[in-house]
Amino acid sequence: MNYVSTRGEDAPKPFTAILLEGLAEDGGLFVPERYPHILLPELKAMRAMNYPQLAFAILSKFAGDIPAADLKAMIDRTYTKAIFASDDITPLRTLEPGLHILGLSNGPTLAFKDLAMQLLGNLFEYVLAKESRELNILGATSGDTGSAAEYAMRGKKGIRVFMLSPHGRTSPFQAAQMFSLQDPNIFNLAARGVFDDCQDIVKAVSNDAAFKAKHRIGTVNSINWARVAAQVVYYFKGYFAATKTNDEVVSFSVPSGNFGNICAGHIARSMGLPIKRLILATNENNVLDEFIRTGRYRVRKSSEVHATSSPSMDISKASNFERYVADLLRRDPLRLKALWGQLDATGSFDLSGEKFRDMIAATGFSSGSSTHADRIATIRGIHEDHGVIVDTHTADGIRVGLQFREQGVPMVCLETAQPAKFSETIHEALGRQPDRPAGFEKLESLPQRFEIVDADAAKVKAYIAART
Ligand SMILES: *Cc1c(COP(=O)(O)O)cnc(C)c1O
Repeated sequence: MNYVSTRGEDAPKPFTAILLEGLAEDGGLFVPERYPHILLPELKAMRAMNYPQLAFAILSKFAGDIPAADLKAMIDRTYTKAIFASDDITPLRTLEPGLHILGLSNGPTLAFKDLAMQLLGNLFEYVLAKESRELNILGATSGDTGSAAEYAMRGKKGIRVFMLSPHGRTSPFQAAQMFSLQDPNIFNLAARGVFDDCQDIVKAVSNDAAFKAKHRIGTVNSINWARVAAQVVYYFKGYFAATKTNDEVVSFSVPSGNFGNICAGHIARSMGLPIKRLILATNENNVLDEFIRTGRYRVRKSSEVHATSSPSMDISKASNFERYVADLLRRDPLRLKALWGQLDATGSFDLSGEKFRDMIAATGFSSGSSTHADRIATIRGIHEDHGVIVDTHTADGIRVGLQFREQGVPMVCLETAQPAKFSETIHEALGRQPDRPAGFEKLESLPQRFEIVDADAAKVKAYIAART
């Protein structure tokens, strides 16, 4: 299978050629030339598979240029009980008949991003070794993505991670997660500034092409194709866990920010997985919900982004959204390019019109948004009715998902983080702290390793240059 850019100008490339890339050269995102289709006999065989077997069955379709034995070995090393707390990897919890939570947050940083990122670490190490290359990952984080990247890349040969975070402004839990890593290839840089300063430094370094090339600088952002592909697997796993036969359909509710998670659901459905609805749930930052309901995509200014109690969904625009729009437009790169040109020029585009509803319906999408009060009420309600504590992001998904529940269609709500990561809001809802998963009890008292730096691109460059 080869990959092309959504904007149509890059030559088709195999999986390993796009693995380490961000944007395509024409500014678009990489997508498979066409999605593989799973026929019923294969779906039947998949039902009996455990997580690594299923991951191999699916990912071997996307990573055709990695020898099967190598891919299998990487998958088997990634999806283990030691890393994801159970052999199920993504256990399904049934709240009541027809209502389930798919646990995606049992990896090392207690959020769903680990499921893709842990595989990415092994894939990166493999491809870099084959090509005798090194990679220095530079990132900015306000907490979540940075720790998932560090836990994926720690100890990996040929890779160093330089992660900028705003000094004193990440939660103590998140800071402790990153700063307690003692691996010599992980560099935590606590910048004297806010998150935007950190992001500006990453941009400044990325814009210095000579420095970037000399020091082999790369990123691990959510547009990476392999991350999306790895996430396709748990939609299959969730489908099989919530049904008895392949005649059934299920709906998934997906707490959404950058559209990475639900993009994987869209691909699973496009591959033939019997998904009725993909329910896109946002918080107060409802740029995606607005699009699904109205056809208007309007990017928010930074000043318009609300800081909410589900912070990993606080976005101004959704970086993976272009992949979905490319499919809505039936892969018409000229039209897509025109839309993104308009987006760059005016901050919005509008696909509303008579065919819009049918176009969205054909992809199974529905959407809704929620507020802080909704999250609190949902966390309370789920706890009272089922004795289960869910985190704030998962609560957004459940709240919106329940609005689309249908008789005879199991609803699978994706759990994207553990409540322990957002204990303040849990305390507000329930008057108590959530329990910490085993191994995280004393996280904040572990020795920490980080360096405080000025929020100054030249100083950060000098820091990197001295270590690469
Ligand atoms: C990243 C994240 C999301 C949003 O996922 P996208 O793929 O960006 O849509 C939701 N919940 C949590 C806890 C996250 O970390």
